[in-house]
Amino acid sequence: MAELVIKNLHVSVDDKEILKGIDLTVASNERHALMGPNGNGKSTLLQAIMGNPKYIVTQGSISFDGQDVLSMEVDQRSKCGLFLGMQYPSEISGVTNSDFLRSAINARQEKPISLFKFIKQMDKAIQKLEMKPDLAHRFLNDGFSGGEKKRNEIVQMMMLKPKLAMLDEIDSGLDVDALRIVSDAIDEIQKETQMGLLIVSHYARFYEYLKPTHAHILIDGKIVVSSDASLIEKVDTQGYEWIENEYHVQVKKEEVSSPVSLGSCGAKKVA
Ligand code: ADP
Ligand code: MG
Repeated sequence: MAELVIKNLHVSVDDKEILKGIDLTVASNERHALMGPNGNGKSTLLQAIMGNPKYIVTQGSISFDGQDVLSMEVDQRSKCGLFLGMQYPSEISGVTNSDFLRSAINARQEKPISLFKFIKQMDKAIQKLEMKPDLAHRFLNDGFSGGEKKRNEIVQMMMLKPKLAMLDEIDSGLDVDALRIVSDAIDEIQKETQMGLLIVSHYARFYEYLKPTHAHILIDGKIVVSSDASLIEKVDTQGYEWIENEYHVQVKKEEVSSPVSLGSCGAKKVA
C-alpha cells in the first residue's frame, strides 16, 4: 500500500517560512480534502511534495511508499507515483500533448508503450473528459481555455495512473457540466487504481461529488483541524472565523503584490 507520510514539514519560499510544521498521512484509496483561506500555504505544500525547487524544505520529512521523497529529483517523484494537477498549468508550445504524455509514460517503464496502445488509451481519456478529439495533436495547453487546461490535467492523470494524485483547485474554471465530468473521471480512476487523493478546493459542490474520507484546514502554515467530510459543510456554511476563535490561530491575509491606492487612481483620472 502506497502511503504518503509527512512529518513536521517546514517550507520556506524566498527565505520566508510558509509551512510551519505539517503532519499529514494519506494512504491508498483515501480521499483527503485540504481547505483553508487563500495565501495560507496549500499550494506550497503540494509544490514541496512534488519537489518544485522554489520551495525549500528546512525541516521535517516526507516519505512515500517507504521511500525518502526529499532525496528524490522531481522526475523520480513522478516515476514513483506522485502526481500534481496544477492550479495554473503551464503552456508549452512546440510540444504536443501526445508527445508530452508518451515521453512521460515511457520514462516510467522499461519498454516503450506501443503506439497502438497509447492511442487507444489517449482516445479513451479524451472521450472520458469530453474534450475535442484534436487534443492529442495540439501543443500542450497552448491556447486552451481555463476549463480545458484543467480537464487536460485529468487526462494526464488518467494516462499516468499515479499512486497518489494531488489536485490543486482543479475545479476552478470549470462550469457545472465540466465539474461533473471531471469528478466522474477522478472517481473512476481512483476506483480502478486505488490511488490516494489529496484535493485542494474551496467548493463544497466539488467535494459533494468526490466524497472525501478526510478533511483538513490549513491556516498560517499549519493544519489546524482534521476531521471527516462534515468539516467541509461547516466551512461552507460558517467560513473560517470559528476556527480562528476556537483554535486561537490567525488567518494569514493574502498579500497584494502591488497595492494600488484609490487616491492615486483618482488623482490620475482627474489629471
Ligand atoms: P494557498 O495555496 O493556500 O492560497 P500558497 O501556498 O499559494 O497559498 O501561498 C502561501 C504563501 O506563500 C503566500 O504568502 C504566497 O505569496 C507565498 N508563495 C507561494 N508560492 C510562492 C512563489 N512561487 N513565490 C513567492 N511567494 C510564494
Ligand atoms: Mg493555492
